[in-house]
Amino acid sequence: MAAQCLLTGWAGTLRGKTLRAGPVPAGIDEDDMAFETPLTPDQARRYSRHLIMPNVGSAGQRRMLNSRVLVVGAGGLGSPVALYLTLAGVGTIGIVDFDTVDVSNLQRQILHQDKDVGRRKVVSASETLKAYNPGVKVELHEEPINSENALEIVPSYDVIVNGADNFATRYLVNDAAYLSGKPLVDGSILVFDGQATTYIPGQGCYRCLFPDPPPPGEVPNCAEAGVIGALPGLVGSIQAIETVKIVMGIGETLTSRLLLIDALTMEFREVRVRRDPGCRLCGDSPEVTELIDYEIFCGVGPPTAEAAMVGASSG
Ligand SMILES: [Zn+2]
Repeated sequence: MAAQCLLTGWAGTLRGKTLRAGPVPAGIDEDDMAFETPLTPDQARRYSRHLIMPNVGSAGQRRMLNSRVLVVGAGGLGSPVALYLTLAGVGTIGIVDFDTVDVSNLQRQILHQDKDVGRRKVVSASETLKAYNPGVKVELHEEPINSENALEIVPSYDVIVNGADNFATRYLVNDAAYLSGKPLVDGSILVFDGQATTYIPGQGCYRCLFPDPPPPGEVPNCAEAGVIGALPGLVGSIQAIETVKIVMGIGETLTSRLLLIDALTMEFREVRVRRDPGCRLCGDSPEVTELIDYEIFCGVGPPTAEAAMVGASSG
């Protein structure tokens, strides 16, 4: 059951340049003059622990500062993802969420505090991120991401991070990221189980793992089954590190690997993920060439206010 609650994996075209960090990921303009702009003294102090790392250095940090990352959901997963990316110096973070902070969110959603109950999550999130790092630019998308707007939002970012907690949004973000040629860092949490992977267009997608959504109601969400408080911190931190590696073009991502975490026994396992030639999205003869109606695809009705509360953000 938990495996159904999943997520994620991808790898864009990487372009090389004479930089200490790895190749420049797709979507990042290596000709941008900003790459040649030295860090300010304030930036050099703030990011000094990055700058002394041989495979990061000022070149890697400048890539971070010039990158744009979209975080879908400002909930359990989106909170640590956005927070750590902000601290790390990602230049622009987009946040998609249309929910308000509920007191039951505070057990795990670290972007929001007790004083924020009843406030819009995007506003609370933006204030928190700015307080941690005033240099970050936060772009707010306070609307349900859907087939009408997804391809207006997703393509302007370099990396997409999925923190959604409903199947319709998960398939939608998967399809929009693939059709836009963007890496998708996926994560999911439920009870004590966590999963994480990275989808690079052409190397497998969520539909390769899960061609069809489960019948409505078969797989509970965190509002129904619960989730242990610190688990999104674990999985979200993994998603943040995956994103940082993609932006800087270093290391090995979870592409083609699905990481399964059982926090109750603290066992970590990996499952190989392969692109399915029969995949309806990324296969040899794709049937899905544009965004569809994901509510119908997943057998659920249009989002109600109650469903939106649950589905806007993971965990
Ligand atoms: Zn696929």
